[in-house]
Amino acid sequence: MKMKFRNTLRIATTVVVIGFTSNSTFAAPAGGSVADNVDPGKHFHPKGKMPSKYTKKIFADARKKLPFSDRQDFEEQERGFIAAPESKKIMADAGNVAWDMERYEFLADGDKYDSIHPSMLRQSQLNMNYGLYKVIDGVYQVRGFDLANITFMKGKTGWIVFDPLTAAETARAAKELVDEHLGKMPVVAVIYSHSHGDHWGGVRGIVDEKDVRSGKVQIIAPRAFMQYAISENIYAGNAMTRRMFYQYGVLLPASPYGHAGQGLAQNIAAGNIGLIEPTRIVEKDIEVFEVDGITMEFQNTPGTEAPSEMNTWIPSIKALWMAENIVGSVHNIYTLRGAQVRDSLVWSKYINEALHKYGKKAEVMFASHHWPRWGNNRVQEVMRDQRDIYAHMNNEVLHHVNQGVTINEIHNVYDSPKSLDKGWTTGFYHGSRENNSRGVVNYYLGHWDANPATLIPLSPRDSAPLYVEMMGGAKKIMAKGTELINQGKYRGASEILDKLVFAEPQNQAAKDLLADAYEQLGYQQENPGLRNAFLAGAFELRSGIPGGASPDSTGPDMVRAMTTGLFLDFLGIRMDGSKAEGMAFTINLITPDNGEKYLIELSNEALTNIEGYQADDADLTITINRSDLEQTMMGAKTLVDQIKDGTAKIEGNQKVLGQLASTMVAFDMGFEILPGTRGKSESEDLNDFEVGPITVQSE
Ligand SMILES: [Zn+2]
Repeated sequence: MKMKFRNTLRIATTVVVIGFTSNSTFAAPAGGSVADNVDPGKHFHPKGKMPSKYTKKIFADARKKLPFSDRQDFEEQERGFIAAPESKKIMADAGNVAWDMERYEFLADGDKYDSIHPSMLRQSQLNMNYGLYKVIDGVYQVRGFDLANITFMKGKTGWIVFDPLTAAETARAAKELVDEHLGKMPVVAVIYSHSHGDHWGGVRGIVDEKDVRSGKVQIIAPRAFMQYAISENIYAGNAMTRRMFYQYGVLLPASPYGHAGQGLAQNIAAGNIGLIEPTRIVEKDIEVFEVDGITMEFQNTPGTEAPSEMNTWIPSIKALWMAENIVGSVHNIYTLRGAQVRDSLVWSKYINEALHKYGKKAEVMFASHHWPRWGNNRVQEVMRDQRDIYAHMNNEVLHHVNQGVTINEIHNVYDSPKSLDKGWTTGFYHGSRENNSRGVVNYYLGHWDANPATLIPLSPRDSAPLYVEMMGGAKKIMAKGTELINQGKYRGASEILDKLVFAEPQNQAAKDLLADAYEQLGYQQENPGLRNAFLAGAFELRSGIPGGASPDSTGPDMVRAMTTGLFLDFLGIRMDGSKAEGMAFTINLITPDNGEKYLIELSNEALTNIEGYQADDADLTITINRSDLEQTMMGAKTLVDQIKDGTAKIEGNQKVLGQLASTMVAFDMGFEILPGTRGKSESEDLNDFEVGPITVQSE
């Protein structure tokens, strides 16, 4: 049987069939179903608590302090509205709900519940835009159909599409809305702004691959697009996906006490993800060429929001497409799901270049999330504010670091410029002040704070019992934890209750008390990622790790896009080194259809590979077309079956394949983050050499 938590491309919201592990007492949230029937005025969880007076006080202060009378974002968000479909749900081909805005309607009067930070609530209300909007003559966006926007620009003979969403179903629905209101025209070009999946996964909903092959449809992407579209998410993919449960709260019900948006948009669509390879890559830093009769200037911005990303300037209409480099929020320098830390300074510099090259002339700036900015003054204002916040995070953090502030303190020290608090151009709705500042320290200095006590610390499970013993045992910690919670000192309570939970994973009373602290901390956050992480932690402490089955959709497009080397690297990661103790062999792998050769070696419990080399005395030589190998990479057909039916030819000792297979471990997405939260585990019969997790990450 397929295990629960089988990782798929569509995990973010395709975890549609949700059950709970053994200590669960509560029936399930799903990618948009059960929670819809929940009274938003009631907490969805039997152990859930309402916001405390301390939490409400933080909200009351924020309401006084923040410039809520400034409604410019709302004017921009509404401007150019043309039409919306009647239904707020978009169905997936598999029968599940791919997208659902209805479940977020409680946000309209979210203040009433007093459980969402007013600043975050405002952002989530802005993200309720839904339908077709005019940006400028000839440029239209469908917003609120997915995590990202899809943009349609009128070319000479058809539509040029910027960023075709995450799922074929939502992209198709967007095109249908455009057809209905703007007249039917074919898509003649697609521009992928960057390598994250919410900007290309839906391409098959609007384009037929035949037309790309025949040259009817052009697909344009930034430098190194294919490499990063896939590779960024392979090596640590399973861990990243597990951590998305926290950052994105993907299994929390939509509720004033649960999931209340993701800052960039409300959620990610749950449908078919595909990838069609670009026909043209923008290789140079700046390139100018025509796309269906429209002159465009492309600016590569590697190392900003994504390792492969580009902005586009359209001089004829003075329109500036800022990809995901400038959105209606500060973005992630460090993303909580896990990813390599981004370079805040480089980001700021590319915005600065765009400002001076294009921004000074632009009459409209639009992007792949949120709403456009109109008028040159406004465009320049937003660009300068965004440039400055990325520069400020970099410079101010390093300023403190150079005076001794460490990665374990910077989040309590760093604050964004006061002048930017007067407006809304740089809200921390995706990246947070706290973790972006820690990310900058990590980028330059790494994880160690230079305190010898943290140089080789005990693991939390090993140190916790010592703390608990020295603190006088569970009873005392519970009493102090309760006292701190009653005083609204939730971070203090977390410090000590976390120790108790790690020392006594089965102590449900301790887990429940810690959950109460996390819950209030979650409510209090302005940043949706922090909120979701605290609330997901509270949820797992109370109910255990949610289990769920999701459609098996490790798509062929994604596997095809992987290099053989990347696949072999990943086998090295899946190998349990201890099972390979004493093993040593070499394998020559030849894939004639693409002319590649790999030498694979197992020695010293490490599996390595090198392209272009072969061993003279290999233990085994395998010859198989890459197109057939893909069946094995996907798990559709084992290598042994490929050999049996003659698809793969071998020479030498086939036994080494069995040896290699015996070292492979299938990663389980349901691993424990908080102790004592795991129920009974499920077994799985993964194909020996399957790729396993490929998750499309979206920021
Ligand atoms: Zn995005």
